[in-house]
Amino acid sequence: MNKPEHNVFSHYNTEALLYITNRPPLVFTKGEGMWLTDHNGKRYLDYLQGWAVNCLGHSPACIQQALVDQAAKVINPSPAFFNEPSLALATALTEHSCFDRVFFANSGAEANEGAIKLARKWGKLNKTAAGENRYEIITFDHSFHGRTLATMSASGKEGWDSMFAPQVAGFPKAHLNDLASVEALITDKTIAVMLEPVQGEGGVIPATKEFMQGLRALTKKHGILLIVDEVQAGMGRTGKLFAYQLSDIEPDIMTLGKGIGGGVPLSALLCKEEYACFEPGDQGGTYNGNPLMTAVGLAVLNTLLAPGFLQSVIDKGNYLKAGLEKISAKHGMQGERGEGLLRALKLGSPIGAKIVEIARDLEPVGLLLNSPRPDLLRFMPALTISLAEIDQMLTMLDEVVTSIKS
Ligand SMILES: *Cc1c(COP(=O)(O)O)cnc(C)c1O
Repeated sequence: MNKPEHNVFSHYNTEALLYITNRPPLVFTKGEGMWLTDHNGKRYLDYLQGWAVNCLGHSPACIQQALVDQAAKVINPSPAFFNEPSLALATALTEHSCFDRVFFANSGAEANEGAIKLARKWGKLNKTAAGENRYEIITFDHSFHGRTLATMSASGKEGWDSMFAPQVAGFPKAHLNDLASVEALITDKTIAVMLEPVQGEGGVIPATKEFMQGLRALTKKHGILLIVDEVQAGMGRTGKLFAYQLSDIEPDIMTLGKGIGGGVPLSALLCKEEYACFEPGDQGGTYNGNPLMTAVGLAVLNTLLAPGFLQSVIDKGNYLKAGLEKISAKHGMQGERGEGLLRALKLGSPIGAKIVEIARDLEPVGLLLNSPRPDLLRFMPALTISLAEIDQMLTMLDEVVTSIKS
């Protein structure tokens, strides 16, 4: 291990940051691909990747280059003017999806707020027979849509319906993969159904193809919108460019975040032409569509679209799946689930937090894992991961689980 140049913890006051979560006493100073290095020079194999954000790994050359090149040209001419990277990225996204219009934002929550506003606007323009506004959006138990007031209200996380009350009204909750539970909530106030094609924070729970197709037929039948939140599952994560493509359906509205920026703050709201009902004054934002971030988004998208890239995600997802199944069988766990390179291991007992801690503290190299539920581990590696880096993680994980069970 390298000698630390200085102890950052004696130089800075960690309590200068507002307390929001328990952080380990580590400062990460360098990232490269699947690897992070801390202030002591210790290396970690990183299966968090900024929470499924760094789809091309830490600091890939194409993002460094896009940032440097664009910073030298223009950083922010103002969202009131066109700029070339945002036009190029919007054009490419519409060419490779079923959508016609794109609005760029800075976070997943902000893109989802935009989707909620767009759906409510559309509901206002399409009033009930009695002339009342329609505004309800059906969402799902265990779903996660962000941390703004409206997106917390839309989320199905336990307890979030009373935190920071009063909540934003109008988000009744159905059960994932249970079409009857959705149909039972549809009233003349309903304007949309919104869901993650693969619930991420909820524990990597894919909506079935049958359910997605059923939802598409049901929403069509009732004349309401289908909104997919692909902030975590979109941008190649499942092996398809967009997760809705796994189900052979076309949603009306989609949001993207996380992977679209490969680590920088960028998100997007996409819709079909017939739902593009915003008027001037309805939607905007100081940094929205700025060329510095959209230039990065374009570099990311071009990488995902290179021949063979998405197939490699499917192949590596299958390889990871097989390895996790082996560990599950060896240690009497309950199997694994997921799509592409978004996967979860069902531990069968509440040892998730313990595994995360022991794995991080392994020597000489650590392993960074995530346990979104006490009995579950979630894996969201860079889409550029190598098979050797999958093998290395599986060996380390096996070692940690063996040490806990013995
Ligand atoms: C992470 C996430 C969000 C929120 O994105 P932020 O960029 O953190 O606001 C929304 N929806 C899903 C499905 C997510 O995984």
